Amino acid sequence: MRNLKEIKGIGINTIRDFNNLGIYNTNDLLEYYPFRYEILEKSDINNINDGDKVIFDGICENVPNVYYISRKLNKMSFRLNIGTKVINVVIFNRAFLKNNLSVGKEITVIGKYDMRHNTITASDIKFGLLKETVIEPIYHSSYKLNSKKINKVINSVIPNEVVIDYVPDGLNEKYHFMDKNRAVNLVHNPVDMSSVNEAIKKLKYEELFLFMLKMNYLKSNNHEDGLKRSVSYDEIQKFINDLPFKLTYDQEKSVKDIYRDLTLPKRMNRLLQGDVGSGKTIVSFIALYINYLGDYQGALMAPTEILALQHYNNIKKLLPNLKTVLLTGKMKAKERREVLESIRNGEADIIIGTHALISDDVIYKNLGLVITDEQHRFGVNQRGNLKNKGVTPDILYMSATPIPRTYALTLYGDMDISSIKTMPSGRKPVKTILKSNKEIKDVLYMMLDEIKKGHQIYVIAPLVEESESMDMENVYELEEKMNKAFGKVAKIGVLHGKMKADEKDEIMDKFKNNEIQILISTTVIEVGVDVANATMIVIFDSYRFGLSALHQLRGRVGRNDLDSYCVLISDKETKRLDVLTHTNDGFKVSEEDFLLRGSGDLFGFRQSGDMNFKLADIKRDYNLLLTAKEDSERFLTSDDYYNKKYSHIREITESAVNLD
Ligand code: ADP
Ligand code: MG
Repeated sequence: MRNLKEIKGIGINTIRDFNNLGIYNTNDLLEYYPFRYEILEKSDINNINDGDKVIFDGICENVPNVYYISRKLNKMSFRLNIGTKVINVVIFNRAFLKNNLSVGKEITVIGKYDMRHNTITASDIKFGLLKETVIEPIYHSSYKLNSKKINKVINSVIPNEVVIDYVPDGLNEKYHFMDKNRAVNLVHNPVDMSSVNEAIKKLKYEELFLFMLKMNYLKSNNHEDGLKRSVSYDEIQKFINDLPFKLTYDQEKSVKDIYRDLTLPKRMNRLLQGDVGSGKTIVSFIALYINYLGDYQGALMAPTEILALQHYNNIKKLLPNLKTVLLTGKMKAKERREVLESIRNGEADIIIGTHALISDDVIYKNLGLVITDEQHRFGVNQRGNLKNKGVTPDILYMSATPIPRTYALTLYGDMDISSIKTMPSGRKPVKTILKSNKEIKDVLYMMLDEIKKGHQIYVIAPLVEESESMDMENVYELEEKMNKAFGKVAKIGVLHGKMKADEKDEIMDKFKNNEIQILISTTVIEVGVDVANATMIVIFDSYRFGLSALHQLRGRVGRNDLDSYCVLISDKETKRLDVLTHTNDGFKVSEEDFLLRGSGDLFGFRQSGDMNFKLADIKRDYNLLLTAKEDSERFLTSDDYYNKKYSHIREITESAVNLD
């Protein structure tokens, strides 16, 4: 594996563009799989329509003309003889191909056909006549890096990379899997779809096998005794009675589950799942309190700084006598040192933070409980990074992305599950409305109504920077528009991912205190943020989001007994978005997401966190998952596992989940 910097022929800008796609080394590159393939077949000149995408092969009829429009833009044109006809070809920014395009050269041209002018505006020229079919891998690309470029770079590194196969020989033989080298090569250099599908199957299996191996290893390590705390439930009940609201039945039941786990000598490994707004946070706070009464430190890890800060402020209010500290990645050095010291010497009872909680320099005195909020955002490996003195902490995961029970059991093995199925009483379902960009006036009037009632509004824009390629509303542009519309009646604030932590805090505080009525934001608010007086969320370009993400966003409103609204603005994919206008049930939404996003997308959508598979899809590949599960269990308990030949498999399994 090499860093991108070590590869000849890619410049610093391209490296940055790859970094932006999450690619830093050759390994990332090889695993940057296409998400679909385009199958190109020769077009029939007698059977095409104006504007069709076409592919023709033929002979270059004349010396191409090159015309320089500007320093960055050139246009080349020539005639292509396809046997029965001569067609004009125009292609931009390929002047460098001119010398290869001699008269009589056999080439294949791909592009869009303009019937009136008998002209193809080409997107690509390939040398040589077209074979039967050409299969083009299509990657998730960016404005700067298109699919072709990505593929070219990947193919330039493939020959020099050592690809490690994590499937043991016996299993490769059993299933007649192809060799990993060949599989990786085929995925990026497709010859025919049937071998590509074989390659994909091998790679999917490898992913699932390794994942299940890790889970099983974790499970086999999990039998050590848990921490036993002596805490009386009366004390917890008293705390519950003093809360400003009555816990729902499911919340109380979840608390009891956790209390049992924490007070019995069994190690807790529990998933708390419940739809957005169902009130998981308070349950986690009570868990931290039980743990504290049992004399251990407790940590709560949140996926964003805003959310960590919110938890921190809330728990301090609820448990003012405890020493709660906040640890995030963006703290000043001195502040960070002090917090680290209080964690190390045990002064800190409760530690709230982001990923920073698992950085190398965080050493806990006696960590008894680790909670991860929005678990689906994190990976399974991360709990392995906790540096803890002596004890093995109990674990509680929280997630609003409902995983159907069968999948959860398969994936997490013996993990216990508590579910909060009902919403706190008095909540009204959020009314969801779909509007086109043309109907924006209606939306503005609705917003005005809410503002007049003294309520607050979230407005979501998906991008921060101006992007030439994508015609999207951006936050600042929206701010200007909103100021024009509401400047006289409301204060408007802006929040986005590139702001400094303290700037974000300030804006969030102002929104919480109703000093700002309209908060324009990117999706940094997606998870967890809780402002009860906000009754409306307007989401621009909603088609850019998955249904589950939209459901999460929608969960920001409807947090009290007022009528709340979610307005989805989109001119596209209205059928898909319509699902949200019909149901408020997170389970149903994610089910639909599974079904809808799966279609047309060869590899399905990307799961995040624990199920961050590059190719496999736990739903579609469920049978393969079951097979991999069985195989991994068998492998883990066989002598083979300890065979030197497979030390690379053992290494990856154990390093991922070792608690030291
Ligand atoms: P989530 O499960 O999405 O994390 P939260 O824990 O943020 O939801 O809870 C949403 C809101 O509901 C919070 O303002 C919280 O204080 C409130 N809440 C939680 N439980 C109850 C309850 N039993 N009755 C009334 N409000 C509650
Ligand atoms: Mg939450």
